[in-house]
Amino acid sequence: MNVSDGGDRAVSAPPVDQVAAGVFVATAHAYTTTTTVIAGDDGRCLLIDPAVSVAELAGLARWLGERGLRPAAGWSTHPHWDHLLWSRALGDVPRYATPRAAAVAVRERDALVADVQREAPGHDLALFGQVEALPGGEIGWPGPRAVVYQHDAHAPGHGAVFLPDSGVLIAGDMCSDIEIPLPDLDDPDPFGGYRAGLAILAAVPGVTAVIPGHGRPGDAAEFRRRLAADLAYLDAVAVGADHPDPRLTEDWLRAEHARALSRARTPHPS
Ligand SMILES: [Zn+2]
Repeated sequence: MNVSDGGDRAVSAPPVDQVAAGVFVATAHAYTTTTTVIAGDDGRCLLIDPAVSVAELAGLARWLGERGLRPAAGWSTHPHWDHLLWSRALGDVPRYATPRAAAVAVRERDALVADVQREAPGHDLALFGQVEALPGGEIGWPGPRAVVYQHDAHAPGHGAVFLPDSGVLIAGDMCSDIEIPLPDLDDPDPFGGYRAGLAILAAVPGVTAVIPGHGRPGDAAEFRRRLAADLAYLDAVAVGADHPDPRLTEDWLRAEHARALSRARTPHPS
């Protein structure tokens, strides 16, 4: 089976870990970006946020093929370029996002395309961002239940996915061990919106493992620790106070932190 869509590029499979029975996480090189694979019935799988490079998507498709898995559906947790990717080798299947996220993917398409061409060139733009709005709160597919929790922290219509059978929460760009909270600074109430999103995730019953969009998966205790760390960060920054978060390890994170602080100190007319 030819699953390479990268031309002459080498197919580099990202490392894959199993976090629960039938739930796999592949970790890409750029930004420690995760892809979640949920195995379902008859060799089908649900694919969440496949990322990042053309070679990594080709490697992911090969990994699935070697295990007899083929996508039945895709889910995009939120409308940022690195969560809207797909490749031909992953199949022509429905790809969903929350209604608000799907609307943003259309409205902001030109900027998103510019982002992906700059950050991860070579993707098939005809497939990029082609997500449809999922009505209702559950992804219908032949596999374990996948319940959507929608909020507006980090991006409009951010949709975390919870698997009640295994207790795994796929959080999107929240609850990371390596990134501070990154509120959507275009939101009229970025910090309040982020807190509301965290409260929704904190109230999900029976979480046994969390998978962040960037970083490493964690167990239930680690999930609670990250929620507390994120709340502590937001409590400080929302009132314009600096906060020595141990995750401020890279220049781009320090720059985002400075933007958030400046936004808190200069309230937006809304
Ligand atoms: Zn994001």
